[in-house]
Amino acid sequence: MNERDIMKNSRTSLYYQLLVLIVASVCFISSCAAQTSSDDPGTKAPISACDAFMDNVTTRCEQDLLFVESNGLPTTHNMMVGIISWQQQVPLPQPYVGNNAWQIPLNPVLADNPISGASDLFRGAIALAVNGVPIFNALNNRGDDAYLAGELDQWGGHGGRGDDYHYHIAPTHLQTFVGVDHPIAYGLDGFPIYGLTESDGTTVVGLDEYNGHFDSDGNYHYHATETYPYINGGMRGVVGYQDGQVDPQPQAQPVRPAGVPLRGAEITAFSQTGFNAYSLQYTLNSETYTVNYSIVGGTYTFEFIDPAGNRTVETYTKGAN
Ligand SMILES: [Zn+2]
Ligand SMILES: [Zn+2]
Repeated sequence: MNERDIMKNSRTSLYYQLLVLIVASVCFISSCAAQTSSDDPGTKAPISACDAFMDNVTTRCEQDLLFVESNGLPTTHNMMVGIISWQQQVPLPQPYVGNNAWQIPLNPVLADNPISGASDLFRGAIALAVNGVPIFNALNNRGDDAYLAGELDQWGGHGGRGDDYHYHIAPTHLQTFVGVDHPIAYGLDGFPIYGLTESDGTTVVGLDEYNGHFDSDGNYHYHATETYPYINGGMRGVVGYQDGQVDPQPQAQPVRPAGVPLRGAEITAFSQTGFNAYSLQYTLNSETYTVNYSIVGGTYTFEFIDPAGNRTVETYTKGAN
């Protein structure tokens, strides 16, 4: 072997080593890519319900239950604007705390006899959003599609008969804060509710009538959809049940009698004007009306102002109604 051959051999060897390195890296990268593209809520470790809720609520995991305390009001978006079918209810902070906190099973169990939201569960919440706002059946307490009826604001919610704010469709806007790989809510049966896509962004296929399906590991989860049932279409998992609702569940505390529909009213503005003080504006027959309300101690004061500037005041005391 002459000097030139040695040079050539060592250069060949270097090229060979480089080639091995390149091939190895390509294999490594492609195997990572393959692993990433096959990720779904099943192959990725699911987020624990204990860690899934946003900062505006208080959570506590005890044995097989997650307790969530909230006042039921969102902190990342406005409310009420966009409602065109209004029953004169407003959002009031609710005492979902202590014995009245939300309880989410940490080890959900599939029910032998699931409860369909198409024919039942017209009362109370069926899910809890990760911002502590309850989610009711997409069908309202009269069995109508609340979204199509114009009863919901731009964020899918409204004030209920107890002036309790809740959504009736999936709050997919929460993904701006938690990400698409994160549940936006939990069914009261404990199964997570993801957005319009799988947690890796891929298309959702094979949903059952409850808007849920199994991932590759056999774990059940629900999804949001843009059409009925929008959110979990009932309780696929085991829950307590009584009088047409999941039971037990936290109770809203109304302070005034339930309102009646105000035909033709459209809510055009809503703002928080101070601590526990709010202002709502609506139009009716092209004229603007205002409702200002506030809570001081246990006293709830509502001030109604008509287009001519006339004021009517109503006060209510907590627990008196
Ligand atoms: Zn409602
Ligand atoms: Zn899925």
